[in-house]
Amino acid sequence: MSAEALEDLDDFYRRCSTTLRSEDSELANLLRHEYFRQNNSLVLVAAAGLMDPSVMACTGSVLENITSEGYPDCRFHGGSETVDHIERLAIARAKTLFGAQYANVQPHSGTSANLAVMASLLSPGDKILGLDIRAGGHLSHGANASITGQYFTAIAYGLNAQGLIDYEQVRQLAQRHRPKLIVCGASAYPRRIDFARFRAIADTVGALLLADVSHIAGLIVAKQHPSPIDYAHVTTTSTYKQLNGPRGGLILAGRDAANLVTSGQEPLAQLLQRAVFPLCQGTPNFAAIAAKARALDIAASANFRALIARTVENAQALASELTRRGYSVVTGGTDTHMVLLDLRPTGLTGIAVERALESCGIISNRNTIPGDSNPPKIASGIRFGTNVLAQRGLGPNEMAHCAQLIETAINAMSSSSELTIEMRRRIGSEVLGLCQRFPLPGHVFASRTRDWAGSEAGLASENVSA
Ligand SMILES: *Cc1c(COP(=O)(O)O)cnc(C)c1O
Repeated sequence: MSAEALEDLDDFYRRCSTTLRSEDSELANLLRHEYFRQNNSLVLVAAAGLMDPSVMACTGSVLENITSEGYPDCRFHGGSETVDHIERLAIARAKTLFGAQYANVQPHSGTSANLAVMASLLSPGDKILGLDIRAGGHLSHGANASITGQYFTAIAYGLNAQGLIDYEQVRQLAQRHRPKLIVCGASAYPRRIDFARFRAIADTVGALLLADVSHIAGLIVAKQHPSPIDYAHVTTTSTYKQLNGPRGGLILAGRDAANLVTSGQEPLAQLLQRAVFPLCQGTPNFAAIAAKARALDIAASANFRALIARTVENAQALASELTRRGYSVVTGGTDTHMVLLDLRPTGLTGIAVERALESCGIISNRNTIPGDSNPPKIASGIRFGTNVLAQRGLGPNEMAHCAQLIETAINAMSSSSELTIEMRRRIGSEVLGLCQRFPLPGHVFASRTRDWAGSEAGLASENVSA
């Protein structure tokens, strides 16, 4: 393409933003506010990742205009030539990166990926065995509140006294209940998962194994966590967490892809292909598929491996610094990006700490911890993750600084659960200092920062129209 044509395209995307601003200032101001909020907060949400600007260029692109169904070379609409190329590229990159034989890049989310897998491999009422949501499992692994717990007969395994997966219990429950599917993978579990052991248990009872690696997909492709691809019959992941891609999911299969794993006569890969379309989804989101392709390419780079190494190093630094300051870290540390803090010794709830930290610009989320007596909306734990801060370039020294800020906030809460404005200002200005030193990648730090005194009244008080 000529340089001029490319410039026209750049102009087009610039115009997208300026048109929004001139046509709908109310909405444009909300987006602008969010842009500054992200630049000015320390995000320790374990399920978060940042899209590279080149990934974002795909999500907000003309690909959103394409309506088509089916798969490359087998579409139900014309005009699909480019998106066929894009989807093939995404599939090839997913297979190479994960060492998989089969990849489906169409699921709209990690949950949809799990639903598609279950809908295609199971019948209503079949038994599934997954990690208890109160022990760190995901909703879509058989929780009561999820369709997976309502359409299937869900049995849950838990953790041992050290907070580690109780593999002996998994084996016993599998023997007793003979589930058709065992699900491994977690949303709040800071330690390695032994996929080989799960497969051995699945094989003894003739169960299928689904590994959902949504939280640790980056660790896996960077070879900092063993891969489940050839142990699990099927592997699923969200793409917006550690892969730093768009909202969406992937379904992958390794050495069992061509095998007949159910009583039917279709190989696994063929079942999975139909599982997404037409069984569970209609049109794919091609902008998201392009963004997945872009994120997967970045995840194959040496820079990404260095990022993941820093992510783990940071989490370990945060865990040991919090431990040194007398806090109770679940399992005593971490092998991943995640640090779970048991707040029970402090007498504070997860929700109170989450809110207090947020009022200083430190974003995290409350989480139940093993043996929690509080419901998930309150929770006795707080979950931290280092994906985003590692992407911004913060290292172990800054993690020590974060631990100190967290301690300052928690100590100041002991008397009342809300922090004083002075305390918020004090911690908030240190947060802002760190944000300033480590702007979001690809962005310039916005010097028009949040006014801590004014932030109390939220959006309304801010001069978002400036
Ligand atoms: C986050 C998560 C999901 C859900 O992904 P969505 O894309 O938000 O639907 C599924 N499984 C696990 C283990 C997760 O942590």
